This record gives sequence, C-alpha cells and structure tokens, in this order.
Amino acid sequence: MGAATAAAAVLNINLFAATSQRRVVVWSENTAPVDKVYPKDVNTAIAEGLKSLEGWDIVIAGIDQPEQGISEALLNSTDVLIWWGHKRHGDVKDELVDRIVKRVKEQGMGFLSVHSSHFAKPYRKLMGTACSWREYKADGTSVKITVKEPNHPIAKGVKDFALPKIERYGEPFAVPTPEAVPFEGIYTKPNGEQEPGRMGLCWTIGKGRVFYLTPGHETYDDFYRPEIRQIIKNAVEWAAPAK
Ligand code: ZN
Repeated sequence: MGAATAAAAVLNINLFAATSQRRVVVWSENTAPVDKVYPKDVNTAIAEGLKSLEGWDIVIAGIDQPEQGISEALLNSTDVLIWWGHKRHGDVKDELVDRIVKRVKEQGMGFLSVHSSHFAKPYRKLMGTACSWREYKADGTSVKITVKEPNHPIAKGVKDFALPKIERYGEPFAVPTPEAVPFEGIYTKPNGEQEPGRMGLCWTIGKGRVFYLTPGHETYDDFYRPEIRQIIKNAVEWAAPAK
C-alpha cells in the first residue's frame, strides 16, 4: 500500500469513528410464506418499522447470504441485532452463535429475540436454559397486551392493545428470571377461556441487554402494527450499548 493510500484509509477510519450513527441488523431465515403477509420476509417488515429511528443505520440480513448474513466486520459494527427464526434454527452455524454471544456478553451488543426465536441458538446460549414454553397453539387465540411497567423505556408511547390473532405460547417459559417484564398478556382461547402469558421480557447478560418479544408469528400482520413497531423501536434504543 502506498503512503497516499494508507493515509486515505486512516482518514476513512477516523471519519467512520466520528460518525454518531448506530447500527441495527434485522436478521431472519427466509421461511415466511411469500404468498402471505411477508412476501419479502419478516426482516424487511421489521426494518421498515424502524425507519423513523433517528441516527440509526438499518441493515437487513438473512441466513442465505454469505456468512449467514452476519460477517465478522458487520457483527463488530452492530449495536443491536434483531433475530427472527423458526424452522431453520439448526442450520445456524455454531461458530456464528459463539461470535454473537461473545459480542453481547463481552462488548455489550443488544440482542432482540422475536417470537419463534425462543429456540434460536444464540438466544438459548445467552439464556443458558431450555427456553421452551409449556405449549404452542395456533388455534385462533386473541390476546390483550397490557403495559405492566409504563415507566420502562421499552413501554414509551405504548398503551394497552390487542392482537386479533396470536400463536399462544403457554407459561411457564423456561428462561432465567427477567429483570423486567414490561408487557404481559391475557389470551382468550376459542372456547372463551382466558390464560395469562408474558409478552415482553428483559435481561442483562454480561455487558449486553437482551429482550424477548412473544408476538410475531409469520402468518399474522404483527410487524405492520403501530404498537409492535413502537415496542421494537424502543427495544432497539434500550438494548443499544452506552456510548
Ligand atoms: Zn409462530
């Protein structure tokens, strides 16, 4: 490398360091049915909902990209990683999982695990528990979601709301005791019976913050709904490492 090129490279690094832009990566596994609600997959819909975040670079990533969408360089410049997976958890390489967990625990990257990602490898490794729910039912259940901790940053601007359909995840949820549960829910089953279930849970794992959001089934329109979009935006800001 010539002296001039080297100087330019250093200048670029300095410019990059000087920017206040943060980065959120929205990852999914390309299994949402293309003829249904998310023709461009779940990651695109979540990313659209983040557009109004100021000072954030939003990156869409997926399992079918090189390095399963998360290269070393991308991960090292990511402040918050949003993860949506369901059918291809087993395809995610352990080497990538280890890098993600390390980045959360040691460097404070935020990690948001959405819906079926309760079984995602990085989430399970961060939790260190089975991360199973008692049961999983897509039986036309609706849910009323209650803001349980209105002063929590993730609840900012969110009022109680309902989802007309949700895949019901029965408690207990095999995770460590969360530091906060900003959202709780009451499911109403088709037979009229009601059942409680946690909808949003927070932890700090090592240096990083982790949030789990229960809604987000791939055939329901949750990621277009204003309340869900607000929650995810808030969660990104909350999970971002301190500057
Ligand atoms: Zn689902």
